[in-house]
Amino acid sequence: MIPVAFDYQRVTSVDEALGLLVAHGDEAKLLAGGHSLLPLMKLRLAVPSVVVDVGRLRDLSYVRDAGDHIAIGALTRHRDLETSELLATQAPILAHVAGLVGDPQVRHRGTIGGSLAHGDPASDLPAVVLALGGTLVARGPGGERTIPVQSFFEGFLQTALGADELLTEIRVPRASGGWSYQKFNRRAQDWAIVGVAAVRNGATSVALVNMGSTPLRASATEAALASGAAIGDAAAVAAEGTDPSGDLNASPDFRRHLATVLVRRALEETAG
Ligand SMILES: Cc1cc2nc3c(=O)[nH]c(=O)nc-3n(C[C@H](O)[C@H](O)[C@H](O)COP(=O)(O)OP(=O)(O)OC[C@H]3O[C@@H](n4cnc5c(N)ncnc54)[C@H](O)[C@@H]3O)c2cc1C
Repeated sequence: MIPVAFDYQRVTSVDEALGLLVAHGDEAKLLAGGHSLLPLMKLRLAVPSVVVDVGRLRDLSYVRDAGDHIAIGALTRHRDLETSELLATQAPILAHVAGLVGDPQVRHRGTIGGSLAHGDPASDLPAVVLALGGTLVARGPGGERTIPVQSFFEGFLQTALGADELLTEIRVPRASGGWSYQKFNRRAQDWAIVGVAAVRNGATSVALVNMGSTPLRASATEAALASGAAIGDAAAVAAEGTDPSGDLNASPDFRRHLATVLVRRALEETAG
């Protein structure tokens, strides 16, 4: 549980961070809250030779009304999402789910940008941003680009971010219609064995936690709802197109079963 020796650099600006990423390429890793990166380093599953600490870039910590969307700085901590009055009225599912992440210690250190950039299919916030249809803003040496969340998650712990890019902002549409988050776990502070985020913003979108190598949209359920299917019928196809893994908590078949049950509950709650 001791990481390989590494060089530690604390930066005071995004440009300084980008300079280090360009200089060190794949050898460098950004450190935000450290609650996903440090465990990986201790297990030696990540062995960066340079750790670039962006955790004190407080100008990337905000929740703002940006007119047609809500803008969230990538360094915003889970606790600040949980207690944001703006999110409570404009995208309440995000505030609610931030309050379900881990325990208070995790929520006071972990950041939304770190959670998304880590790309763990078992994390809660990526599925919520996926259900909301958010957009991610990344900065690299060539400037800024926006990435629709639907094309952000590319594989297990893999995202569309380049090694020389920093996630700066997450944009989510206002979504004050019906919503639901169903997190199935054994103890309150645990990761989801399976989770479901549902948002009614015009059409109903549904995203799944821990049902494959990336966070996933429940496409078959969404298509069934769009063609007028009843909630029970739409929920029954929730596991179509998924590929959940098995572990000590659940077999793949149990996860598929859970998905159908949790999607039904989520759709019932979303419909009000
Ligand atoms: C005990 C425990 C329980 C937890 N329980 C849950 C849970 O129930 N649900 C849940 O969703 N999560 C859970 N987590 C994970 C937690 O939410 C993490 O904080 C989060 O996943 C990562 O955020 P971070 O800021 O700590 O990122 P870090 O660990 O600092 O970084 C994670 C990865 O993202 C990269 N990165 C970070 N910021 C940026 C950026 N701005 N741009 C580009 N790349 C970046 C890093 O280089 C690294 O690869 C838990 C963690 C712990 C330790």
